[in-house]
Amino acid sequence: MVEISEGIRRVTFPLPWQLDHVHAYLLEADDGWVVVDAGLGTPDAREQWSRALSELAEPVSRIVITHFHPDHIGGTGHLVELTGAPVSQSAIDHETACSVWGEEDWALRLAAWYRNHGLSAALADEVIEEAAKLRANVLWPRTPELIHPGDRLKAAGEDWEVVPMPGHADGQIVLLGVQTGRMIAADHVLATISPNIGLHPESGKDPLGDYLTSLQRTIALAPSIAFCGHHHPIEDPVGRAEELRHHHHERLETTIAALGRETLSAYEVSLRLFGAELPTHGRRFAVAETLAHLVRLEIDEQIVRVEADSGVQWNHA
Ligand SMILES: [Zn+2]
Repeated sequence: MVEISEGIRRVTFPLPWQLDHVHAYLLEADDGWVVVDAGLGTPDAREQWSRALSELAEPVSRIVITHFHPDHIGGTGHLVELTGAPVSQSAIDHETACSVWGEEDWALRLAAWYRNHGLSAALADEVIEEAAKLRANVLWPRTPELIHPGDRLKAAGEDWEVVPMPGHADGQIVLLGVQTGRMIAADHVLATISPNIGLHPESGKDPLGDYLTSLQRTIALAPSIAFCGHHHPIEDPVGRAEELRHHHHERLETTIAALGRETLSAYEVSLRLFGAELPTHGRRFAVAETLAHLVRLEIDEQIVRVEADSGVQWNHA
């Protein structure tokens, strides 16, 4: 555990993926510590939480979950067991968590969705297998206290406002320090990689459109520093938000170029955008990210969707 800013500590957990770590943050409040995000719910992470919590003189008074992704929500069960603290989550995010982690047939629905977007049955089966494995380490909160945009809490010497930043996840929230402009940014902006913006079976209609709006909101709010879910803090969040906007506008152009004059599935377009050599989870995110760009282009009337027997395909408008 390191003190990363006045009144804010950070704990970093290893992840068994290509993205090999995730950060949780602890904010010192009058009535104890506010923990933001819980890591993945592995037995090792529980051990690590137990050691980290033993370093704190005060108890944990609240657990805030920024979004339902396994590496942020998965360890909530461990944290609740260890601290007895209440959990806060946005209403939209809780709904998504219920439909992803709470429904037994989620992995099957996921595989059917990917097959409809061009994945082979064999690859879709691998998606199911990975999704099933993941669930064992996702100890998500069944009855969180719902938090809403504009809600505030006091910690680390200032007021923190709940700000919705949909895109990476529909219900993702960040916390903005009202007095200093510090932001606990979750995966909304990351320093060294572009956060995955994907269309998934459970997402809203236009995740990339939402994300571009959230980046605009970030630029308008002008945070002084962003503490993110992965990698190092961002010293110039406005500059980074502008870079990410530029990246996605460029990516939209590349997506149109990759489609050319052909009629292709999202999977086929993803091979052109991301190459053929990806592990299963990497391919899953590549197809979802490609789809987010394709539907943005569709809404913009630059391409059209073709519903064929074999599944969904896309071509030039
Ligand atoms: Zn995430």
